[in-house]
Amino acid sequence: MKRIPITGPSITAKEIAYVTDAAANAWYENANIYHERFEAAFAEYVGRRHAMTLPSCTSAIHLSLAALGVGPGDEVIVPDVTWIASAAPIGYVGATPVFADIDAKTWCLTAKTMARCITERTKAVIAVDLYGNMAEMDGICDLADRHGIAVIEDAAEAVGSEYHGKKAGSFGHTGVFSFHGTKTMTTGEGGMAVTDDEALYRRMLMLRDHGRKPGDTGFFNAEVAFKYKMSGLQAALGLAQIERIEELVAEKRRVFSLYQARLGDAPHLTLNYEAPGTRNTYWMVTVIWDRALGTTKEDVMALMAKENIDTRPFFHPLSAIPAYADAADRTRARAENKVSYALSPYGLNLPSGASLTEEEIDHVCAGLLGILGAKGAAGKRPALSASGRSPPTNTNLMPLG
Ligand SMILES: *Cc1c(COP(=O)(O)O)cnc(C)c1O
Repeated sequence: MKRIPITGPSITAKEIAYVTDAAANAWYENANIYHERFEAAFAEYVGRRHAMTLPSCTSAIHLSLAALGVGPGDEVIVPDVTWIASAAPIGYVGATPVFADIDAKTWCLTAKTMARCITERTKAVIAVDLYGNMAEMDGICDLADRHGIAVIEDAAEAVGSEYHGKKAGSFGHTGVFSFHGTKTMTTGEGGMAVTDDEALYRRMLMLRDHGRKPGDTGFFNAEVAFKYKMSGLQAALGLAQIERIEELVAEKRRVFSLYQARLGDAPHLTLNYEAPGTRNTYWMVTVIWDRALGTTKEDVMALMAKENIDTRPFFHPLSAIPAYADAADRTRARAENKVSYALSPYGLNLPSGASLTEEEIDHVCAGLLGILGAKGAAGKRPALSASGRSPPTNTNLMPLG
């Protein structure tokens, strides 16, 4: 069997036609036609007044923080378990990240874990919809409101997910999305920020165009800022993808249900959680196993690779990685974020691409159950670990690389 990739996009004749047309025609007075159509379609889909095409989700978070006035001396709360892109822009504006614990079921920030991190310096919170799972946005937004804290919803992994009838990215001051090639919809590289706040939108327009007032034709820059724009070719690709979004989301849900039918009953395994009142779009089908099995994610990844199956580690806590070795909040986070440290060593993302066949999913599930034992700790012993290392007993002391 050929190698099963972790994920990849769904590209049809529609995408190719739109990009071809953009390459031929989206210039001169038509330079922005695809941006305008993509932004309008995206804003309508998410249910927001404004959408702004950007080169990445990382830049969308940076721009949001900058436009909200977050800077040196301010603290920004971010879940400890997420891709580093959620947190890195906090440093770009000179603010300090504070790493909140995640929930054991949703794997996301909660109002409770956020509350423990609030100080008088807290200026913003970045709530992440991890792997398509929804964070508890009502509680987070209420708490933030009461404390005058700005909210950014990082929906990079959750386009199409829903919470109490509202789409991912429709909460907070801004919602931000990624269209990286691995994400549910793609523009190759790309991102989007959405907001209902007119003043914030106008501030972001100015900051993303070298401090030019929207409509400026005099090239008379008001301040030194950033250059964050998407190309017309990418916008054409994005328009085709958002016009196919129901199909892309249905495909993710199909893949998840095939995994659930094969792994859902295994008592030692937990898959992505779809909380009551939410719809999950399962960007990455993710499995967490009982830590009593003693096998770490690095071991399982290596054994899956031998079966020609690509997997990814469940994100490491940010407070555990070398990039944040000097973070002010690191010691507190490592001591207090019990759920992050209990789950992270024992989780993997499984192949979740749109083109996966049922046979491939059979192969992945058979491989995983072979490695972890079909019944877990109560059944037969799991296969030997790839490295022969014993699992960490104190995960606060996990290797720092
Ligand atoms: C992918 C991702 C980002 C960053 O997206 P880019 O478009 O690569 O900048 C941010 N946050 C999360 C949670 C992501 O998964």
